[in-house]
Amino acid sequence: MRTDRTFTMLKPDSVEKGHIGAILEKITASGFRIVAMKLTQMTKADAEEFYAIHSERPFFGELVEYMTRGPIVSAILEKANAVEDFRALIGATNPADAAEGTIRKLYAASIGENAVHGSDSDENAAIEGAFHFSGREMF
Ligand code: UDP
Ligand code: MG
Repeated sequence: MRTDRTFTMLKPDSVEKGHIGAILEKITASGFRIVAMKLTQMTKADAEEFYAIHSERPFFGELVEYMTRGPIVSAILEKANAVEDFRALIGATNPADAAEGTIRKLYAASIGENAVHGSDSDENAAIEGAFHFSGREMF
């Protein structure tokens, strides 16, 4: 994946609350082009692999439970400086610390159920995008 791309998920709480449209509007209005997108549900094995870096953390079990309880919208987004700009758009992991106007400030309930994922580096964006999409699903 090119380095002007990032990977995102609208997590199960966003889908359950009917926030898909509002969040996508904010993403596209902020200049991100949708390169790949689908509604999908992660299995327990998928979530454990995707979040393997957090496997020793005390919240890991809850995180896997949360991320697998319903469908998510996964997507690859393109924009100059995509990774950094998207992290700024979503805000801090804990919505209590997220800046006004950020997606997490607007839509996240807690540090655990925080509405959206955004890759933290170009390398992880490429790994995460390839985890969710085949080459034929990227435009
Ligand atoms: N998380 C949690 N409790 C914590 C920290 C993180 O439940 O104390 C969850 C939360 O859903 C977060 C995900 O684990 O988005 C991954 O954590 P990370 O520190 O990578 O945050 P992010 O990169 O998503 O901001
Ligand atoms: Mg992270």
